[in-house]
Parts: sequence; C-alpha cells; structure tokens
Amino acid sequence: MAEQGSQVHGVDLDSQTRCAHYHSALDVIAIRMKCCGVYYACKDCHDALAGHASQVWSRSEWDQPAVVLCGACGTELSIRQYLDCANQCPNCKAAFNPKCSNHYHFYFAMDDMPVQEASSSI
Ligand SMILES: [Zn+2]
Ligand SMILES: [Zn+2]
Ligand SMILES: [Zn+2]
Repeated sequence: MAEQGSQVHGVDLDSQTRCAHYHSALDVIAIRMKCCGVYYACKDCHDALAGHASQVWSRSEWDQPAVVLCGACGTELSIRQYLDCANQCPNCKAAFNPKCSNHYHFYFAMDDMPVQEASSSI
C-alpha cells in the first residue's frame, strides 16, 4: 500500500483521500499545501491538523510538479495539469469533483492580482 512517498494527511481519510469534509465518490484528490509542503485531503483538514494558516500557490508556481494528487491511482499533477484535465485524472480517468472549482482560491491563486469585486457591467 505505501509504495508512494506521498503521504496524505486529513481527518478520517479513506484509502482514496476522501476526508470527513468531502467524501463523495468524486472527492479523490489531495493537494500539497504551499505553507508546509504536506498533502492534505482538503483545506479544512489542513486547518484542523496543521496548526497554522494555509497559503496558496501563486500563479507562477502552477507548473511545479506534484502539487495535486489523484487519490485513486497516486498520480501527481501540477496545478496546471490539474486545471487542464477537465476534472478527470489523465492517468486512471477517475472523475474529479467539478465543484472543487469553487474552492480553487483556497489552494491556488487564480490571478496575480488580488481578487476584487468585478465591475461586470461592461
Ligand atoms: Zn500548512
Ligand atoms: Zn477535509
Ligand atoms: Zn488517477
């Protein structure tokens, strides 16, 4: 079982990195947190266990390898690979939760600029 060196931390983890917070069939990814370099099943697990504030990956780090882990097969992806994979593991074709996109900003800076109210009237 422990052939990968990528230990994932989390609350009530199962074998595919589902945690106490996100545990649908699709919630199989883990993310290496920038602040401590440790894989967590989700940010809430990090906040519950790490004892420090989380940091997000900046956009210039999107090509850094091994930031997102597919809990189904153990493949590690860069942020860019993950965002480009259309919510499906490029290796094992496991489906990822598309709703994770609501949470990207907890993990990845989606822009170099601070997020602000969009002036969407244009
Ligand atoms: Zn941390
Ligand atoms: Zn969690
Ligand atoms: Zn996979």
